Amino acid sequence: MSQLANICLSCGACCANFRVSFHWAETTLATPDGVPQELTETISSHHNCMKGTNQKKPHCIALQGEVGQQVYCTIYNQRSSTCRDFDIVDEQGQINPQCTKARAAYQLLPVVFIQESSIETSIYT
Ligand code: SF4
Ligand code: SF4
Repeated sequence: MSQLANICLSCGACCANFRVSFHWAETTLATPDGVPQELTETISSHHNCMKGTNQKKPHCIALQGEVGQQVYCTIYNQRSSTCRDFDIVDEQGQINPQCTKARAAYQLLPVVFIQESSIETSIYT
């Protein structure tokens, strides 16, 4: 697991800030090892979302722990493509603005990259 992934274990803000929707066929109704259907709700003819995320203050039903402290996903190996695709970094290798937005909602500072060369510079100057 990368250091960035470790940050997520003490965060979880993105699992408690957005509606997490995906094609219904990702649920166990069509995919035996998919997202447990009973943990989802139907939001359209083609899409379901994680229960708990389709509300004003979203909080995925599968998220355990305390946001900003220690969290884990109870269906990690069965999570949807939406969850799998969400990452700290975006396609350009920069910090994902949606990650920053989710963290800000919980008064958590944005994740930042610290270059090793910057650390060395600060030691010797
Ligand atoms: S908001 Fe960012 S740091 Fe927090 S769990 Fe999601 S991806 Fe990880
Ligand atoms: S299913 Fe897991 S990874 Fe996806 S939003 Fe819920 S807690 Fe987060």
